[in-house]
Amino acid sequence: MTNKLGNLVLDRWVEGDGDGNILASAVDGNAVARITSAGLDFGDILNHARTVGGTNLRKLTFHERGEMLKALAQYLMEHKRELYALSTQTGATRGDSWIDIDGGISTLFVASSKARREMPNDHVYLDGPFEPLSRNGTFIGQHIYTPKLGAAVHINAFNFPCWGMLEKLGPALIAGVPAIVKPASSTAYLTELMVRRIHASGILPDGALQLICGSTGDLFEHLNCQDTIAFTGSKGTAEFLQQHPRVVSQSVAFTAETDSLNSSILGPDAIPGTPEFDLYVQEVTREMTSKAGQKCTAIRRIIAPSGIAGELVKALAKLLGEIRIGNPANKDIDMGALASQGQRDEVRDRVDELSSQASVVYGGEEDFDVVDADASKGAFFMPTLLHCEKPLTSSAVHSVEAFGPVSTVLPYDTLDEAIELSRLGEGSLAGSIITNDNNVARELVLGTAAYHGRMVIINRHCAAESTGHGSPLPHLVHGGPGRAGGGEEMGGVRGVKHYMQRTALQGSPETLTAIGNQWLRGADQRDPGMHPFRKTFEQLEVGDTLHTDPRKVTLEDIEHFADFTGDTFYAHTDEEAAAKNPFFEGRVAHGYLIVSFAAGLFVDPDFGPVLANYGVDNLRFAQPVNYDDTLKVRLTCKQKTLRAGTGYGEVRWDTEVTNQDDEIVAQYDVLTMVATDEQWASVQ
Ligand code: NAP
Repeated sequence: MTNKLGNLVLDRWVEGDGDGNILASAVDGNAVARITSAGLDFGDILNHARTVGGTNLRKLTFHERGEMLKALAQYLMEHKRELYALSTQTGATRGDSWIDIDGGISTLFVASSKARREMPNDHVYLDGPFEPLSRNGTFIGQHIYTPKLGAAVHINAFNFPCWGMLEKLGPALIAGVPAIVKPASSTAYLTELMVRRIHASGILPDGALQLICGSTGDLFEHLNCQDTIAFTGSKGTAEFLQQHPRVVSQSVAFTAETDSLNSSILGPDAIPGTPEFDLYVQEVTREMTSKAGQKCTAIRRIIAPSGIAGELVKALAKLLGEIRIGNPANKDIDMGALASQGQRDEVRDRVDELSSQASVVYGGEEDFDVVDADASKGAFFMPTLLHCEKPLTSSAVHSVEAFGPVSTVLPYDTLDEAIELSRLGEGSLAGSIITNDNNVARELVLGTAAYHGRMVIINRHCAAESTGHGSPLPHLVHGGPGRAGGGEEMGGVRGVKHYMQRTALQGSPETLTAIGNQWLRGADQRDPGMHPFRKTFEQLEVGDTLHTDPRKVTLEDIEHFADFTGDTFYAHTDEEAAAKNPFFEGRVAHGYLIVSFAAGLFVDPDFGPVLANYGVDNLRFAQPVNYDDTLKVRLTCKQKTLRAGTGYGEVRWDTEVTNQDDEIVAQYDVLTMVATDEQWASVQ
């Protein structure tokens, strides 16, 4: 008898009760596995995530969680061969599996790298600068993010069994929130195999990941306000789950990625014979056929100038005619099967619906060549192109999603019409514009961006390196308004924040410094007992402050700096011209001279643990420095970020340059790399 898929619950693999439902191969209809989650205790699953998984993950800093994800991604890269082998059963070609498996693993690498580069090596994430709230600066505000204390429930669609899980898992784990993954049943066997490998790696702490293959039972009854649901699937299911009484009463965060009638607009300049016309034909064909069109981001609506619609249809039909359909394990195949025969029947029905308002101009046949497979047993479907003559008054082409290799040409006469057609999709995940006219690009983006989560503009200059219309990237937001679900995932650190709570803190600068581990102006300035540049990373304390001696800026200094650097801008060299400037009374010091003098005042020249200055952030010149003014500097250790395993950490110094009247003339953060104890001891 075919194997039952395992459920990973409470860190053990368990089978559900009963025989379960048979999952059939998309290629030959044979049984691949059986699926059931009957008998699982869903309350226990949630409780385990919260108490064991969450507790374990929250012990780690953002950087440690990032390191963990990197190790996991590396491990999965070494174990992907068997995933590729099984993936063909879902109907995926090698190229499709590459998007799902390698693409999925790469989202972990990106989540890891973003966490280590853009988040602190800490447990709390500060959201923006502090807000001054009082006259004397003793009471301030600061927004922070901390992990929610619940579980991330991930309900995924069938089309990307690996990517769909990993793109959500990365941000949740970086946030410090354990995940409970429920893959779509029809392709759950591939997700299960990947979770088995993840579990076998031993890289994630106990409770960080659980897997439910089959129904979610009464899981929703146990949700609370600390849990998060990230759903991918059809709009109908999203609406049903979003209205679950527990989701409503507990205000459970719910992100939905649903149907999307994505459009691609061909600019009026992109006539046949231009590179953009050819790019468009290739892009549409690729979007229709990759993953057999089962991509939430695929181009469903081809919005093209009416004058060239006929030629476009001809060019698309020619390229679609070259697509070889068949057994995805055969490397000569361009397009495999849909995920199941049920899915194929569903797509057929949707094409029938579309046909009431558009005519099939390519494909749509039930009898077509299938290579190396039995067409009657597999879920094969011919790429099908439709043409709608009156798209502004046809509703089906803007609302019926045939989740397969199906797309419709919608002609337009003016850019306003193209914009209106795009908007008729009522909210999309992805949109694209193919034009070499930047004015057209701007007009179309301003007209349609509010209806899109992501837009890509392609022309001859970027096409070779473009990632294409349909590829969501972990660095960029994935999600869209309206029909697309109104949700948002990924987008680097933005995606991590969905699993965290933002809290506005109010208190004294000293208290908020202690909580956020970042020195805030107004907090205590500690006497470091020695020049702070003589301290190693470990010895430095947030708040360690150096007050420098004063230095006078002379006219000769300004003239020398102008000659030496070549910056002879009139404000530094021409007394009369400078005085005419509304901001100055006469010649003033260069901003960079102020910064250079400041460095001359605060550095400790001798060989020491400070290894390098790698930049400044947030540099502002608050008011002019006239010659004969006297400058001094306050330098305070603001934030420490250990770069584990490198021998150094990054230290950010809050820097304030003031004049003889104690007025601030410049403010910025100096960024340095400082050796650890071990590294410093090894080089002395
Ligand atoms: P679906 O029927 O809505 O299923 C989506 C997921 O919800 C599956 O895991 C399904 O599990 C689960 N589910 C269904 N009913 C549930 C319930 N009562 N309680 C808990 N979970 C439940 O969608 P589909 O037909 O599989 O997927 C195709 C649709 O997904 C298309 O419309 C496509 O546009 C959309 N999609 C969107 C994106 C995106 O990122 N926006 C990506 C891919 C697909 P079972 O499989 O076990 O029923």
